[in-house]
Amino acid sequence: MTTSGNTQQRADAGAALTPLIEALREIVGPAGLLLEDDVRARPAGVASRQGIQARVLVRPASTAEVSAVLAVCHAAGVPVIPQGGLTGLVHGADAQAHEVILSLERMQRIEPVDTTQRVLIAEAGVILAQAQDAAAAAGLLLPVDLGARGSATLGGMVATNAGGNRVIRYGMMRENLRGLEVVLADGTVLDSMNELVKNNSGYDLKHLFIGSEGTLGIVTRVVLRLSEPPAGRRMALVAMPDFAAVCTLLRQLDHAMDGRLSAFEVMWQDFYHVVTTPPALARPPLPQDHPFYVLVEASVDDDSQGDRFDDALGAALEAGVVVDATLAKNERECAALWGLRDDVAQLRRFGPLVAYDISLRLADSGHYVETVRAEIAQRWSGARLWAFGHLGDGNVHLAVHVPDLDPQRRVELDTLVYSPLQALHGSVSAEHGIGIEKKPWLGVSRTPAEVNVMRLLKQALDPKGVLNPGRVFDGVAGTP
Ligand SMILES: Cc1cc2nc3c(=O)[nH]c(=O)nc-3n(C[C@H](O)[C@H](O)[C@H](O)COP(=O)(O)OP(=O)(O)OC[C@H]3O[C@@H](n4cnc5c(N)ncnc54)[C@H](O)[C@@H]3O)c2cc1C
Repeated sequence: MTTSGNTQQRADAGAALTPLIEALREIVGPAGLLLEDDVRARPAGVASRQGIQARVLVRPASTAEVSAVLAVCHAAGVPVIPQGGLTGLVHGADAQAHEVILSLERMQRIEPVDTTQRVLIAEAGVILAQAQDAAAAAGLLLPVDLGARGSATLGGMVATNAGGNRVIRYGMMRENLRGLEVVLADGTVLDSMNELVKNNSGYDLKHLFIGSEGTLGIVTRVVLRLSEPPAGRRMALVAMPDFAAVCTLLRQLDHAMDGRLSAFEVMWQDFYHVVTTPPALARPPLPQDHPFYVLVEASVDDDSQGDRFDDALGAALEAGVVVDATLAKNERECAALWGLRDDVAQLRRFGPLVAYDISLRLADSGHYVETVRAEIAQRWSGARLWAFGHLGDGNVHLAVHVPDLDPQRRVELDTLVYSPLQALHGSVSAEHGIGIEKKPWLGVSRTPAEVNVMRLLKQALDPKGVLNPGRVFDGVAGTP
């Protein structure tokens, strides 16, 4: 689009939004409405390429206000883009000039933790770390955890069905959500705040909204299941001779720990090298010449469980499944091991990166990564690929640098990464969602019949297409 085209688009958007602004101010009051430069001055989020384009940002302070905001936007046919902590990585919350941003940042109340029912009830704008702290203060564990815990909101995490570090033991957001309250496109409030473990009375509607990326409704409140916290944890970093050994160790450790394995994070050699070499702060706890490294963690309640972890690793060493290992002796060493695994930012020193978040059957993962790596190296000199991920969940993250990556090369790169997944029945998105970024690739992981049912649901719940239009898929009324 040319500069004059942009100016025209802004002018058109202005004309459509102007009559709405007074109605929104009436609902949320002056503190709840930001306009023009006050909107564009805000941080655009970790993955945003374009900065904030929107002119209007509304910050309701209650479910009733969210409902009223949606009702007026729906009547006016103006698209609404929900925003949480803006840590999403697929541009799902990037808003255009003609769209209204609805931020949940003034909805951050946490109810007193119910230690009998073991649930936490909170508004959707609550930051994950705050919810974790509230659960811990009540002697319980909110087990969902991820690197963006200081910014990601509970609503955004439901909308993306976030996973993270302990999925192997506790599951993703879906497994930890008992109920929710959601506001539909026309302002209808759907109260589905179930606290029960068992409730098979009809359809469990919360599942429609988990992972729907804000396209079917705006999550306003959640009921989260809490768990008993383990007394402690045992952690080790181990070096592996090949990918078959990685698969063997996962099975052996999970078996030995009776399902108490809480993390199984794999780093391919070149990733480990980068995060343990200056300017990275971590020094290599193990030599850097092994093909694979795995960070393993298990929850333990007593010494005998700790011994079982150590014994299982000892047996793996003796059998040659593991070729070297270091055990974390205390919490400080545990944090240091997680620190090197989480130091993904080190990869940026090699230039701009494209990040992929894919899912595969475990047995296919090793061969897939090597094939993609070889094809990228063959096609572009100077290109690099680093692989790591929550391998216990079959989740591989690829970070790729291709010099002078223009739009044409980007399409070629995406094709190279995504198209083999179809034959392997893998997924183009393990955790981050589809948003705008992965829309062209949805068909790799979902059949035409599945996408049609998604469209039918969208049509049924949001026939005017005003909620996060153009995210996940196109082709419903109101989407570009
Ligand atoms: C350092 C880092 C580490 C990360 N690690 C992980 C990880 O391990 N696992 C993982 O799964 N993700 C991870 N992510 C991605 C990100 O944290 C998650 O996608 C998170 O769930 C997004 O929450 P948010 O509040 O920031 O949502 P946003 O980024 O604001 O929004 C994400 C999407 O949800 C929609 N949305 C937001 N709030 C609502 C709501 N209340 N109702 C309806 N729709 C809404 C938005 O429109 C958008 O489509 C990571 C991100 C970073 C930056």
